[in-house]
Amino acid sequence: MGRINSLEIFRARKRIAPYIHKTPLLPSLSLCASLGKRVYLKMDMLQETGSFKVRGAANFISHLSSKERERGVVAYSTGNHGKAVAYMAKRMGCKAKICLSSLVPENKRRGIEELGGEVVISGQAQDEAKERAKELEEEEGLSLVPPFDDPLIISGQGTMGLEIIEERPEVEALLVPLSGGGLLGGVAQVVKRISPQCRIYGISMERGAAMHASQKAGCPVLVEEESTLADSLQGGILLDNQYTFSLVREHVDDLFLVTEEEIERALWWFFFQENLILEGAAVVGAAALLSPRYSFKEKEMALILSGRNIDGKLLIDVVGRERRAKGEIVDDL
Ligand SMILES: *Cc1c(COP(=O)(O)O)cnc(C)c1O
Repeated sequence: MGRINSLEIFRARKRIAPYIHKTPLLPSLSLCASLGKRVYLKMDMLQETGSFKVRGAANFISHLSSKERERGVVAYSTGNHGKAVAYMAKRMGCKAKICLSSLVPENKRRGIEELGGEVVISGQAQDEAKERAKELEEEEGLSLVPPFDDPLIISGQGTMGLEIIEERPEVEALLVPLSGGGLLGGVAQVVKRISPQCRIYGISMERGAAMHASQKAGCPVLVEEESTLADSLQGGILLDNQYTFSLVREHVDDLFLVTEEEIERALWWFFFQENLILEGAAVVGAAALLSPRYSFKEKEMALILSGRNIDGKLLIDVVGRERRAKGEIVDDL
């Protein structure tokens, strides 16, 4: 089994620099005022496909030989990885087929097609989309770009940790959205190397938190996939997980879960307090910070805002429900 080390993350940063943006790390005045601490927002939803996933995809695809690129790539995805792979494939001149389950929202499916990716719908869950992608890898000789459990993907995502800790070495804790753990694993690996005292927390939704359940069980376990506002965090961590399970176990200080109501409240918060549109997966850190169930003692914290690909109609519903719950008039929404 290969190893992920911080050096790989420095190398990845160089390799992907032409394709990604070094995104700003900005203080959130509203969260600072409300929580009485300094909270920075890592604006990685500003990447061109609307999520950080171009980092890993760029690192992986730039490692393929020209022969492999000629044959093309395939991926399975809850949406953002598929979009990132379609986009990077196009920029690097290769074909991409993206396998999605029927649970993936329409806006993400359209997004992939607009970027030139060919969408293949199969089944009701991530696992079925994955099977289809493996078939296409075999039948058509395509290179499968894994969504998280791969050294090149993890190193690519980890470049974000490097940007944060170099810009703000005084940050005492990082809140990172967590699904398969490519992002959390890569970020934790490099941040702990540079700044071992910085705490790293992973945040998932209560509905179907596979990494959380697996860490608790001491080995990768299956959880039932449920629908959630944080749809980009859906999916398992693979029973034969090779990298991210141990990276999280070794380097991550704690994991937290948030409810659908807490995610909804955080979406509302960003919309009204910061005028930012984010997707559910991106706001789980803020959801934990704003939840009365948790209290974080660190005074300087950074939140990774991982994506902005929310369906507009869903956001309008969520914001309307929150306003109604607060007793505000909602006729105009
Ligand atoms: C994929 C994704 C995550 C989680 O990344 P993992 O590497 O699977 O843990 C978080 N937020 C968004 C918006 C994503 O697309």
